[in-house]
Amino acid sequence: MANSLNVSTDAVVQKPTNSAPANSNGAPNTATNGAIATQVQNTTHAFAQVKSEEWSAEKSAQVYGINNWGSGYFRINPNGNVSVTPQGDKGPSVDLYELTQELQDRGIRIPIMIRFPDIIKSRVELLHGCFQKAFADHNYKGQYCGVYPIKVNQQRHLVQELVKFGKDVKLGLEAGSKPELLVVLSLMNTPNAVIICNGFKDTEYIETALLAQKIGREIIIVVDRKDELKIITETAKKLNMRPKIGFRAKLNTQGAGKWVDSAGARSKFGLTAIEIVEGVEFLKKQNMLDCLELMHYHIGSQVPSIQSIKSSLKEAARFYTELYSLGANLKYIDVGGGLGVDYDGSGSSDSSINYSEQEYANDVVSTIQTMCDEKNVPHPNIVTESGRALVAHHSVLIFNVMGVNNLYRSEPPVPATKKDPSIMQEMQYTFEKLTADNINECFNDLLQSKNETLNLFTYGVLNLTQRAWCESMFFTIATKILTMAQSLPDCEDIVSELRQTLCDTYFCNFSVFQSVPDSWAVGQLFPVMPIHNLKQEPCHEATLADLTCDSDGKIEKFIDTETGEVKSTLRVHPFAEGDAPYYLGVFLTGAYQEILGDLHNLFGDTDAVHISIHDSGYTVDHYIPGDTVTEVLTYVQYGRAEMVDNVRQYTEESINKGNITKQEAKSLIKHYEEGLSGYTYLEEME
Ligand SMILES: *Cc1c(COP(=O)(O)O)cnc(C)c1O
Repeated sequence: MANSLNVSTDAVVQKPTNSAPANSNGAPNTATNGAIATQVQNTTHAFAQVKSEEWSAEKSAQVYGINNWGSGYFRINPNGNVSVTPQGDKGPSVDLYELTQELQDRGIRIPIMIRFPDIIKSRVELLHGCFQKAFADHNYKGQYCGVYPIKVNQQRHLVQELVKFGKDVKLGLEAGSKPELLVVLSLMNTPNAVIICNGFKDTEYIETALLAQKIGREIIIVVDRKDELKIITETAKKLNMRPKIGFRAKLNTQGAGKWVDSAGARSKFGLTAIEIVEGVEFLKKQNMLDCLELMHYHIGSQVPSIQSIKSSLKEAARFYTELYSLGANLKYIDVGGGLGVDYDGSGSSDSSINYSEQEYANDVVSTIQTMCDEKNVPHPNIVTESGRALVAHHSVLIFNVMGVNNLYRSEPPVPATKKDPSIMQEMQYTFEKLTADNINECFNDLLQSKNETLNLFTYGVLNLTQRAWCESMFFTIATKILTMAQSLPDCEDIVSELRQTLCDTYFCNFSVFQSVPDSWAVGQLFPVMPIHNLKQEPCHEATLADLTCDSDGKIEKFIDTETGEVKSTLRVHPFAEGDAPYYLGVFLTGAYQEILGDLHNLFGDTDAVHISIHDSGYTVDHYIPGDTVTEVLTYVQYGRAEMVDNVRQYTEESINKGNITKQEAKSLIKHYEEGLSGYTYLEEME
């Protein structure tokens, strides 16, 4: 990388000579002598660092907003690399760039999902601490029971770490399906920690949950649909036991943000007011109203505004006090998930939040307290099901740039002459006359020439070769203006517009569908940035394309720290094939992404590592190899042996026909077998 950054800045334009003759049909020589084609290769490095000495790690931090979304876990260190600091700037840290290289030295492959359990620990403690503080400040009488919904990320090592870090604070788990309940039962035996059972339930799910109560688990079965209540009471009677039951209420208040449909009258789960009243009647008749211990609701994930959280809390707290007055002796109110993560640091978008964890805890506690005190109802224990807020921060996806589609051009095409169409002569003139004094005028000329070129081509005035010349000249002038503008005062608008115009496509070694599916599926924004070189100015703009052949396989939503809005390109450092590896990280990918990821184009799980950080360095706790090609193919019913056998037979036929030598056939089979054993992503040649 260093090479590409040290290119001199003033080699961009050579004075054109006006002597090249036009060929017979009046077109310039460009196409016939291949000038366009050869010039393309020369362009990548031409546009280099401007004002590099003025750039700093602090400026990079500003451009990428890392101090806003990093929550103290990520920062830029004095070497210009990203550091991970699970305990904030006073605690130990690890250099993400060095770590990435050292992991590769160990044979771990890019793209890598790097998980930091210390960050999980910090999140668990943070949330617990916020509620303890809110309880103390408000003199609240109930207990706090945090519960982690494992659907957010069920990876075994991660859930084990959560259970371990959560032991002291009695962190419980939530299951949203039968398979998840089976996971929860095998991974957790924390005394008195709550297990919440949500989701669609059949008799087997319910019977399993009830029996788990007999081995000492504090298990609460939440009635999500009214039919479930009957199965629970009947099964419990059969087993001769008292179940612990929760009701999920369908609130009228909706959340906000991307997952707004999780609440409201038409939401998938929950009981309406009518069903709740009927449910209470039913339990009374069964003599089981004392089994109703919990009132639950969930207004959807990533709620961006504290106002929505508060209004749903008010409605829910009323449900709670009313259930109490109907005779239910409830112990818990379960406020579900929804606590958001600040993915862009703006405080004002759907990918952000306008409140802190402490404000969230304060509002939950004070709202419930006020409503209960009003009705003389004892303060319930408060269950939260925050998933995203616990695990999003802990993992980072690192990948490298494989190649680039670059529009910068330092070499002009063969000069236009008097015989060429006037648009070409005008562009030639603009190119030659450009100076710092007329830069605005030239910039406007340039914009106009673009439209004109298209029109003239459509009307049949320009032929294809001439259009190619105009495009080539357009990018040359744009490059020249941009280079000049970057060192001039008051040219910010030109600089930012031309950077977009000359925007690169960086082809990156990862799959959006596998590693950041929500970026594609719901247009969620994730922080993305280079993890090194940050003392140099990232003077290009790029969009990121992944390895899939799907045109949706790209990231085109980035943080714009200046406006707080979303922009379609990312500031990057110049890159050319053959340069030292250039690494980018997608941050805050710990929630939902891994399990939602799919096998589009047969790109499988990436390699993953768990890294714990301490004063004397770091430890690789776990290495979870990504899928091999053979494994991915097994999911779609291909058998390795049969595939190899088929290809072998085809090569035998070709050997017999004399179309391939035995040596070549051996080579083909070798590549084929190695391919099947290999990583699904691109690997560096050894
Ligand atoms: C998904 C889900 C959660 C987790 O929500 P987060 O916003 O990730 O905290 C909690 N409770 C229920 C019922 C859910 O379905």
